Amino acid sequence: MDSDSPITIITASEFLRHDTGGSDHPEAPERMLAITDRLAEGYLANRIHHLPPRPAEREQLLAFHTEGWLFRFEESVLSGRTYIDHPDNQVGYDSYEIATLSAGSGLVGVDLVEAEPGGIVFCQTRPPGHHAEPNQPYGFCFFNNCVIAARYWQRQYGRRRVCVFDFDAHHGNGIQTAFEEDAETSYISIHEHPSFSYPGTGWAEERGIGAGKGTILNLPLPPGAGEEQVLRIFPKIRQFLQENRPDVLIVGAGFDAHRDDDMSGLAFTVELYRKLGVFVHEIAEEFTQNRVVSILEGGYNLRRLGSCVEAYLLGLAERGA
Ligand SMILES: [Zn+2]
Repeated sequence: MDSDSPITIITASEFLRHDTGGSDHPEAPERMLAITDRLAEGYLANRIHHLPPRPAEREQLLAFHTEGWLFRFEESVLSGRTYIDHPDNQVGYDSYEIATLSAGSGLVGVDLVEAEPGGIVFCQTRPPGHHAEPNQPYGFCFFNNCVIAARYWQRQYGRRRVCVFDFDAHHGNGIQTAFEEDAETSYISIHEHPSFSYPGTGWAEERGIGAGKGTILNLPLPPGAGEEQVLRIFPKIRQFLQENRPDVLIVGAGFDAHRDDDMSGLAFTVELYRKLGVFVHEIAEEFTQNRVVSILEGGYNLRRLGSCVEAYLLGLAERGA
């Protein structure tokens, strides 16, 4: 990536049609508009290209999810249910279709990185994915977008060693489920400590199972943690990458650790998201020959989300600093 690399945002107006029941639900369509508006008027406006996603195919979803979950999800929305399993997981009639499109965003991102290495690729997508388990939705997530992109990268391009780096405020339990027994994949998560935060997984002691031992790096932070604590764990991440030697990197880019976001007690700033972008740029250059795709996870403060995403992209796009 150099200083004038194109920035591709993979997104679609269809993401507005995943109906979470109105203004009480934090995972609202307005999240997309907050990002789009900010990027359109901000520093990066002239460098941004947009690309539409395509729906993930059934086989691609089945690389992680069970057939039973696909049937149950589709049937639930078509029969008019308003949530699945828990009121967190609000759905509307179009939600199955939109979730397949959300999952497909990462696949378009992977294709783009393989075709044109060195560009910056950000999937501005909803519903998010990292809590979704093989057979059930969890925490606003229905299909695990990062895992589906990881399995696609392996199968389509033979990039066997996939690492997901997830800096959403919450632990991506579904990604850990997918990877914890797998020697080829690895998962790094920065999140608020599970004693204080949803979903209650992501303890530092969870490091992988069997053949996957040592492939999980959980970095829980105490409430109130911000830049100082995050910068201190960057060397641990580099050390882990040296041990796990990924071919490619997927970033679970969540922005709900911002200090003004009600969904966590963390105290990240817009400037810290820029530094996270710089860090991702550096590790992608050092370890994965710049093969990196970022996929939006959480981020719910509509007054901050756009600035956080913009700062992260600025960090990805600018060297060093
Ligand atoms: Zn989150």
